Amino acid sequence: MSEDTHLEELRGQVRKWLDANAPKGWRDAYKAMTHAQFAQAQRDWFQTLVAGGYAVPHWPAGLAPGSGRSLAEQKVIYEELARADTPRLLLSFVSTYHAASTFLECGTEEQKARYLPAILEGETWCQGFSEPNAGSDLASLKCRAERKGDVYVVNGQKVWSTMAQYADKCLLLVRTSSEGAKQAGITFLLMDMKARGVSVRPINQIQGDQEFCEMFLDEVEIPVSDRVGEEGKGWAVSQATLSSERGLTLMELTYKMRGALWRIAGLIRSNGLEEDRGVLRDFGQLVARCDSACAIADQFLQNRIDGIERMGDASIVKNTYSRVLREYALLGLRVGGIGEQYRAPITYGDLTTGNLMADFMNSYAWTIAGGSEEVQRNILSERMLEMPREPKNWVL
Ligand SMILES: Cc1cc2nc3c(=O)[nH]c(=O)nc-3n(C[C@H](O)[C@H](O)[C@H](O)COP(=O)(O)OP(=O)(O)OC[C@H]3O[C@@H](n4cnc5c(N)ncnc54)[C@H](O)[C@@H]3O)c2cc1C
Repeated sequence: MSEDTHLEELRGQVRKWLDANAPKGWRDAYKAMTHAQFAQAQRDWFQTLVAGGYAVPHWPAGLAPGSGRSLAEQKVIYEELARADTPRLLLSFVSTYHAASTFLECGTEEQKARYLPAILEGETWCQGFSEPNAGSDLASLKCRAERKGDVYVVNGQKVWSTMAQYADKCLLLVRTSSEGAKQAGITFLLMDMKARGVSVRPINQIQGDQEFCEMFLDEVEIPVSDRVGEEGKGWAVSQATLSSERGLTLMELTYKMRGALWRIAGLIRSNGLEEDRGVLRDFGQLVARCDSACAIADQFLQNRIDGIERMGDASIVKNTYSRVLREYALLGLRVGGIGEQYRAPITYGDLTTGNLMADFMNSYAWTIAGGSEEVQRNILSERMLEMPREPKNWVL
């Protein structure tokens, strides 16, 4: 069977499966849900995807139903999920991308055997990296861990941990030494969110949701067996986690955005703008920009599969997505007019892309999440283009 025929067959299978299994009317349903109901709806959809073999097509073969898919097959699945406008897995994406990448690249065999199957059974992870004074300059983090026999005792604060209020476990960066370079004293631990001394406080956002949390850690004990990599070598492990956030997560979102272009086309038609040459030109440009964003995401994944990923590849995917999402939302808000601009309140049911105002605001969030846009540009200029860190001999 040719590759094209195989992919078309797969597309047919996924589409048929989604017709039968994708949640119907979830955007409206999410709007009326309590936090607990939202969490349950997310868990149910994730389990449905696991059973169908579409939850983790990017994991290596044999680890989950439907895993080990080729890049071309993953694209088909993402395209079909986007076409069916299924809910984004807000509760599980840190688990299936960030946590899984960390275990697969840096975990022990025991950690892989223990944590990967648990993710499929519904265990959810959050990421405890950022601190009040350590975001862009993550390596200056202060959350302290001291080894006492078989455990580390952790004290400190974390902030901006997405969905931490629902998480069972946390990917935690701590400082185990203040000697030498900042990066050298960082250790990567796996924390049980129910351990004694962990307090989680959700942060109220301006539009009413609570996507992030603060975490306070007071004498929290974490077994040494829950350390990923060696003590003091956590910085390298954290790069595996972050590269998955900047690359793989955004591949799915990029396809979702391209798959939602019909919404803009629908607004152009319903507002009688089909003859407006300026609007049509901008829409054509947007379609090309969405296609190029997908191509960049594809190239990222292909480089990773081929083992030739370069430092900065994931930064390109992230910066491109946030920029194109803004263009997408801006054109939609322009052609949609006042009706689209004031479709409030915004809830989880609006993400992504069910409410253009939510997409617009989210495009700014994505210039910060996973490392700010400016910092990604620093990575690109210094690591990929090898430009000097401190320009020398510049005369201003
Ligand atoms: C939607 C979202 C989800 C997030 N989820 C998580 C999560 O789950 N877990 C987690 O640990 N964190 C999370 N974060 C936090 C995120 O990683 C940090 O916000 C980010 O790294 C920036 O850090 P900061 O907020 O402290 O800003 P700062 O580091 O204080 O930066 C402030 C401004 O200064 C600029 N700047 C700083 N340093 C430089 C430099 N060297 N060169 C040029 N410009 C610079 C930045 O670009 C930014 O514009 C999330 C953030 C968002 C928005």
